[in-house]
Amino acid sequence: MDLDALRNRINDLKNKTQKQGHIWKAKDKHVIRCLPYPHQADPDSAILELLFHFNLGSQPGLLCPTQFGEECIVCEFAEKLKSWNGEDGRKKPDAIRIADFKLFCQIQAKSRYFIPVIERALDKDGKVTATFAGPPKFWSMSEFVVGELAGNKICGKEDFNEGRKDGGKLKILVSTAQGHDLTVELKKANNEDGKGNPKPFPVTDIDPKIRPTALAASKKEIDEILAKVPRIEDAYPRTKAADARKTWDAFMAEGGESKAEATKSAEPGKEHFPANNAEKPLTGTRSIEDAFGDLTNS
Ligand SMILES: [Zn+2]
Repeated sequence: MDLDALRNRINDLKNKTQKQGHIWKAKDKHVIRCLPYPHQADPDSAILELLFHFNLGSQPGLLCPTQFGEECIVCEFAEKLKSWNGEDGRKKPDAIRIADFKLFCQIQAKSRYFIPVIERALDKDGKVTATFAGPPKFWSMSEFVVGELAGNKICGKEDFNEGRKDGGKLKILVSTAQGHDLTVELKKANNEDGKGNPKPFPVTDIDPKIRPTALAASKKEIDEILAKVPRIEDAYPRTKAADARKTWDAFMAEGGESKAEATKSAEPGKEHFPANNAEKPLTGTRSIEDAFGDLTNS
């Protein structure tokens, strides 16, 4: 296989969307509660990070096997694209080097963040009720949104940390006894929905409730909720070196057929393009943003 074929394949492709039942995303205005992640030694460190390769054909994101101690063929090729030298060992001409670097940015492994959340059911006036809108799921977040949760807006906020016997910080987010519900609202690009977001990309607004509350009325109910928190592996099964190779081979073999399909599916994908991706573009290429979008489009 040569680098030309790889370049063409990446340039040709747009990712398709895929349903993922364990993933939550804001569609409109919601009240959610972040939960501890009970499947690890420190459940309060509930913000999970996973490395993905996007832009690899029909998959919304391939988990990079290096994070599970395995080799990764995608990383291998990404390194070749990043290199200043071509496969013949000689320095690449500038134009090729710059183009290759852009492709490298598209396929290199990127972080995506997840936290378990449960959504509160609202009454017809939009007030929080004692019930929930569904089982716990993972909120798939960009680095920007994680920064808002972990930073001064919530976990780092002085008022919220004052006088907390449990130490505050992450507890503010995930405490089942004294946590803060979050109002999360998706505002579409170019003020399409009249919610006042003039930016050319959607924005996810996060507004914590000032008063801390319990997750639910009784310990029994809280335990029942926590027992339903999925494992991150349920949403994203671990990959092995062989899985990455298989995805890579399929991606390289897909050829022109998927090009037509990708063109067809490009517009609907854009409609659902979620907010938290574009707030802080990572490398500035549209297809990467689309790929992040696929991950959160569930
Ligand atoms: Zn990799």
